[in-house]
Amino acid sequence: MPELPEAETIARDLDPRLAGGRVTDITVHHHDVLATDPATFGRQLIGRTFAGAGRRGKNVVLPLEDGGRLVVNLGMTGRLVLSDAPRAGELRHVAVRFTLEDGRSLLYDDTRRFGLLEVFEADAWRERDAELGIEPLGDLFTAGALHAMTRRTRVPIRNFLLDQYRVAGVGNIYALEALFRAGVRPTRRSHTVTRAEAARLRDALQDVLRRAIGNRGTTFSDYRDGSGERGGFEPLLQVYGREGTPCAACGTQIRRRVLSNRSVFYCPACQR
Ligand SMILES: [Zn+2]
Repeated sequence: MPELPEAETIARDLDPRLAGGRVTDITVHHHDVLATDPATFGRQLIGRTFAGAGRRGKNVVLPLEDGGRLVVNLGMTGRLVLSDAPRAGELRHVAVRFTLEDGRSLLYDDTRRFGLLEVFEADAWRERDAELGIEPLGDLFTAGALHAMTRRTRVPIRNFLLDQYRVAGVGNIYALEALFRAGVRPTRRSHTVTRAEAARLRDALQDVLRRAIGNRGTTFSDYRDGSGERGGFEPLLQVYGREGTPCAACGTQIRRRVLSNRSVFYCPACQR
């Protein structure tokens, strides 16, 4: 499932190549990925020009030159690929095609169609942006800020990290990897996390996210970056999906259990 590193990878790929692209036509093959009906979606975007590509949380945010935004939540299997990218021809589940004035197309492909495309005008986007949680790679995400946030809630720390209105962009994979590196068990109640643990967790989360971006994300099922390539972070995972294998730090078998209907993986010796 795409998280911050996958959205960031897609945005970085698209940014220089999409800037200046004016939408001249939109073909909707599967309207269930749109926040509105296809006719309205077309009226919202045709004639407008992309200013580039960025990210907020797990969303790819495509700013328009007039201040609006096309916000793409990738869901489980969403991808955004320009038609002149090396492997664009392999896409089999294109839901929306944006024809650009220069002859290229921006393709939104989504096998399982849990993604969502929504146009925000400038004011509406400011409101939406303000509702989302803190960016874990931003300057405001300090150890002190994280500790102050964790002290206010009793939810398990894994669930805290997944709450997009607290910390934006983190999903199960990177939350579990960061908790392993910080030595904090995923089931720990957030308010019991010490200041020292919060500091380790903050550093671990930033390190894991940066490494994942450096490796162009983690490939699970259908994730592809903005060039249609698979991500390279998967071999670097230390606990996620590694139930029964030895912990890289101490050799104890990695355990799996279910927390709030989703798996957690952890080392029972290293994580307290
Ligand atoms: Zn261990």
